[in-house]
Amino acid sequence: MTRTTHSIQGLALGLLLLFSAPLWATELSPKQIQAALDKAYTQYKDIKEGANADYIPALAKVDPKLYGIVLVTTDGSVYSAGDVQSQVSIQSISKVFTMALVMDESGTAALAENMGVDATGQVFNSIYAIEQNKGAEMNPLVNPGAITATSMVKGNTYDDIWNKILGTYEAFAGRSLTVLEDVYRSEAETNQRNRAIAALMAAYGRITTDPLRATDIYTRQCSVGVNARDLGIMAATLANAGKNPVTGRQAMQAENVPEVLAVMATAGLYDDAGKWLYQTGLPAKSGVGGGIIAVSPGKFGIAVVSPPLDAAGNSVRAQKAIADISNALGGNPYQVTPR
Ligand code: GLN
Repeated sequence: MTRTTHSIQGLALGLLLLFSAPLWATELSPKQIQAALDKAYTQYKDIKEGANADYIPALAKVDPKLYGIVLVTTDGSVYSAGDVQSQVSIQSISKVFTMALVMDESGTAALAENMGVDATGQVFNSIYAIEQNKGAEMNPLVNPGAITATSMVKGNTYDDIWNKILGTYEAFAGRSLTVLEDVYRSEAETNQRNRAIAALMAAYGRITTDPLRATDIYTRQCSVGVNARDLGIMAATLANAGKNPVTGRQAMQAENVPEVLAVMATAGLYDDAGKWLYQTGLPAKSGVGGGIIAVSPGKFGIAVVSPPLDAAGNSVRAQKAIADISNALGGNPYQVTPR
């Protein structure tokens, strides 16, 4: 090899390093990240749109002013604004983590072949969506698919199954979690519709265990108490290939994370999932307790807790704050710099 070839190669390598590094590294300073959170917090603190969910009576009693934002980067740095301590019930955000558990236990095909992995375009507790395709062509993030996913968690007893579900949520959050008993009781007394949904999913052979037991475990999983910090860390664990960036513990198999994020992207905000993806590009999941988590793969997880919801059942402040913060920080995974 001649000296000229060497130096050309050296130059090429140098240029490659020089120009490729900024494309991959997170270039944001802690100050910029904190400023984005503070701005969204202040901007949306006093808005009055939306209303707490009240079809579960206990949710109507939660302070509508509660508002907290947490962003956690994949290197484990935690940023926050507002109330990040007060707990709300996790509600439908739990569906993401039960889906992850079922994928880890039974493979990603198990869910796709049973209830499906497609958006319904219907509200989250739609019975019409079940009837349309005999309990298929839907996904584990709407109630029929979610109760079915819960029924697919392996275990000999109620407690075996429950402990596995709670243990999974705890691995994602990085701390011990408990059920908010008042929320659980309130929903258990009023969940006739979910019981009907589970019975119908059993009639179509999607649920093969006792549908009432599956509904009860599902109701319990929805009542787990979490704060904005917990949800931010759970989201960041998904952003970090299933490894909790704060505890360093692998909470789910890395290879299944893309499938989890795909269902979040298409169905995480129910029938508004498309609008949300259009605005942010982020896989996300909302719950009627007022939380939303969103994931910028490889970069950060973000969560906002604020109970007042819009007509689709998604937190009003959470949607606005997450969209602003992520867009300010370059969180949209579809947005790249041309080479
Ligand atoms: N537990 C609630 C229900 O089943 C969860 C719904 C939600 O958060 N969208 O109705």
